[in-house]
Amino acid sequence: ADNPVTLLGLGAMGTALARTWLAAGHPLTVWNRTASRADALVAEGAKAAATAAEAVAASPLIVVCLLDEASVTEALAGVDLAGKDVVDLTTGTPAQARARARWAEERGARFLDGGIMAVPPMIGIPEAGGYVFYSGSRALFDAHADTLSVPAGANFVGADPGFASLHDVALLSGMYGMFAGITHAFALVRGEADIKPTEFAPLLKGWLHAMSGAVDGYAERLESGDYTTGVVSNLAMQVAGIPTFLGTAAGQGVSTELLTPFFGLMERLLGEGAGAEDTARAVDLLAGRAGAA
Ligand code: NDP
Repeated sequence: ADNPVTLLGLGAMGTALARTWLAAGHPLTVWNRTASRADALVAEGAKAAATAAEAVAASPLIVVCLLDEASVTEALAGVDLAGKDVVDLTTGTPAQARARARWAEERGARFLDGGIMAVPPMIGIPEAGGYVFYSGSRALFDAHADTLSVPAGANFVGADPGFASLHDVALLSGMYGMFAGITHAFALVRGEADIKPTEFAPLLKGWLHAMSGAVDGYAERLESGDYTTGVVSNLAMQVAGIPTFLGTAAGQGVSTELLTPFFGLMERLLGEGAGAEDTARAVDLLAGRAGAA
């Protein structure tokens, strides 16, 4: 484990990444805009560079973990990247990753974008299950897979540099939908002194867990194009139930703002004749694809 690494960015995430490479014995050069944030790592064996350019010059592999795209542009302005392998773990859109890949290649670097599916306390703890989506240069990924796997699992998802970000954002979007559901569910029981949140929680968790199988159902329908075989909760039935959800919310004094967008989509689907199908069809409607019911 003596492959040198340069890391730009010592925020919460960068610092967590840095410690794992140090612990694994990789020579580590770090740079951070606010230089004092490197002090603790230097005490642990890292070398602090005075400038980003100096840090980049120190190793063949450059890992960038800054706040956002603008900070990457600022930090790397005028830095010589020729011959370098640049891995950008800064969160951004697929379009930003593709533009950054072109930008890096024009400067003579190989480029890999990453989307981190972990929070800092999960970094360096394999049992925590965190991992990073990577996309872009397969050659770069193969050359550094061992080093990149030190902080968290490494999952290469394609040569399109935008795919890491796309996977990252798609998974987090699913999470936000779940958070919306959790928020509304707790709000419904919030006013009831006889329903304790800690007693309600395992019921909600169990139900969400049971329903997570819907992900596979969606995938099978989207691939087969068959939206009707084996439908157990058809859209006509589900739309008929909408007043129950709205009436229950109203009765509990709870805003329906998190529910109504999805109900609106279901009603639109029903209006287009999808009453015998289930909500998987909403994917095509949302994505604006021809072939939606
Ligand atoms: P922090 O806010 O802790 O750190 C931000 C880092 O960016 C600091 O090193 C900061 O430097 C630097 N920075 C900000 N603006 C500039 C700039 N204009 N020029 C140079 N450096 C700049 O963020 P995190 O470390 O938590 O996150 C880093 C990346 O990792 C983000 O893209 C984030 O989305 C991603 N990520 C974070 C997760 C998390 O849970 N924390 C989870 C998954 C991904 P300075 O110290 O000088 O301010």
